[in-house]
Amino acid sequence: MGQRLWNLNSHKLAALFLAVVVPPAATLVWLGLQLLQQDRALLAQRELESRQAAGQTIVRSLEQSLSEAGRHLAEGPAPEGTVRFSLSEIGVRAEPANRVLWIPAPARFQEAASVPFVEAEALEFQGSGQRALPLYEVLARSHDRHIRAGALLRIARVFRRNRRWDSALESYRRLALMTTTAIDGIPADLVARTAICSISEESDNKGALGREVASLESDLLAGRWALDRPAWELTAAKIEQWTGHSISIDAERKQASDVAGWIWEEQKRSVGGTHPAPRRTVVIEGSPATLLSQDSRVLAVLPSAAQAWLGRAISTTRLADGNGRLVAESGETVAGSTSPAGVSALRFFGAETGLPWTMILTAGDSSVEAKEFAQRRRLLSAGLAAIMLLLAGGSYILWRVVHREMAVARQQTDFVSAVSHEFRTPLASLRHITELLDEDDNLALERRRTFYQALGRNTERLHRLVESLLDFARLESGRKPYRLEPTDAAQLVEQVVADFAKDARGYSIDLDVVRGLELQADADSLTHALWNLLDNAVKYSPEQRTVRVSVRRHPAGVAISVEDHGLGIPPRERKEIFRRFVRGEKARELGIKGTGLGLAIVSHIVKAHGGTVEVESQEGAGSAFRIMFPAAVKRKSVSPLCANEEA
Ligand code: ADP
Repeated sequence: MGQRLWNLNSHKLAALFLAVVVPPAATLVWLGLQLLQQDRALLAQRELESRQAAGQTIVRSLEQSLSEAGRHLAEGPAPEGTVRFSLSEIGVRAEPANRVLWIPAPARFQEAASVPFVEAEALEFQGSGQRALPLYEVLARSHDRHIRAGALLRIARVFRRNRRWDSALESYRRLALMTTTAIDGIPADLVARTAICSISEESDNKGALGREVASLESDLLAGRWALDRPAWELTAAKIEQWTGHSISIDAERKQASDVAGWIWEEQKRSVGGTHPAPRRTVVIEGSPATLLSQDSRVLAVLPSAAQAWLGRAISTTRLADGNGRLVAESGETVAGSTSPAGVSALRFFGAETGLPWTMILTAGDSSVEAKEFAQRRRLLSAGLAAIMLLLAGGSYILWRVVHREMAVARQQTDFVSAVSHEFRTPLASLRHITELLDEDDNLALERRRTFYQALGRNTERLHRLVESLLDFARLESGRKPYRLEPTDAAQLVEQVVADFAKDARGYSIDLDVVRGLELQADADSLTHALWNLLDNAVKYSPEQRTVRVSVRRHPAGVAISVEDHGLGIPPRERKEIFRRFVRGEKARELGIKGTGLGLAIVSHIVKAHGGTVEVESQEGAGSAFRIMFPAAVKRKSVSPLCANEEA
């Protein structure tokens, strides 16, 4: 299993990691979501229950308000926002009168017949107003107040025609004091006060007109006279004409007046028929009104009262004002505000509660539970996010570590097999030559010498390999001592190239050296580094067999380059190849022998000399390795420790 794991490539390793990490992460998220869902369901259930309980409380409170209002059906003042209508054969009475504008068929005052005035009116209309006046004045002293009223009206009329304004006004003022009689179906005082306004206008007395109209308007709106709609509207139109502004009509009073008209019509329709339900909500001209009926009395609960009752009832619960609504059977809102679509609504039907409305309760957004839930959801989401982040971060780090370890393990395996191969070739040659020498005692001296030379070369190769490995071990452990001494760069390079050329038959090595450049160097180590670069230049140039070595002055000191025209190095490998055990892809593909240690050793040695190494290359065209040393390194010798520190 372990072996198989190391053999996985990075894609497969990533897939393995995903396979290990994703299921628990997904499970965690799923569990979190489930938890949230359950929490939400529980909360919704709790909220529903609490809304149901609140609904019962509201129903009780509304029932109480209705019963209290019902008690005022027969007597006492009608509660705020309600109007009590008393119906009779002849008309409707509204209490309090100032909560309506007009009423249908208002109870009328008695008034004088025209008979007593026939004679005087004949004179008046023949153009002898003056002769009619004494007759009217006699009648104006009558015991019968209705006749008195009729006479005063006619006296005022005569004076008005004659433009005797003061006398006409005096007569009207006396008439205006008579509050229990009527003229042509209109209360006598209203007739008189309207006429006073007209005279003030005709006589161009603006001050008087303003005062009279203002008091007439306030009395009309205070419900002083029980008028039917045409009479009310006629008076209002006159007032508007005199004042020049329109009378602002309170919508609820208008509605109360409409309700009065409606119940009057209903009564006429159902004479001898069924009695209306004691509680009901009717919609008149688009506006709903709640009616409580008993015998011939009806208490109209106007929207402001229903609204107030609902508000009071809701305030005793944990719900907010906007969460409750009363609707008529046909769906019109009686009180409360319409809830936005999509909000869960709990309905309490009139058939169950006994109320004349359907009550709708919606869940409050700002309920404490909702806030708690939101907080829990935030916490859980943050926790989940943190766990996911940790999981992702941890997995990534683990993946990196495993990936690196795998790479190292692979490199080490490759190294062992590479080293074995390196040993095998010279060992095979040694064995073969030894056998040949052993088999034939009569070998020609010349041939025998060739064999001995081959033995020497292979032994040297093995020796160098072993030394290289030991050197690397010493470098790695920091045990390698460096003796830095002034060294002639050109001389050292020429010597290494000369030695190397003996081994590199078939290759030409061009030298281009600037003389007189001195380095502080450990000659053995520098030789080793140069040898490795030359060895690579030859190994990786199977076709273009020319290598160029140069020694030059450099701004940083001295630069030694080894250039070839071989395989070249792909850009992605140019940094990596200086790490131990790392071999190029091409080197492995082409089966070129090597251990992956050469450049790591070069890098080590150069750094220990305080220098740097760089590579320039073009794939398929060759590579140039350049090592640069500082010009003035004055130390005689450095300990391995120091060398490493320098590195
Ligand atoms: P080795 O040569 O034993 O593989 P090195 O550390 O010397 O190890 O080199 C590492 C890698 O760098 C080589 O495997 C090869 O791919 C690449 N390399 C080094 N020198 C050259 C060169 N002169 N031309 C092309 N590739 C080179």
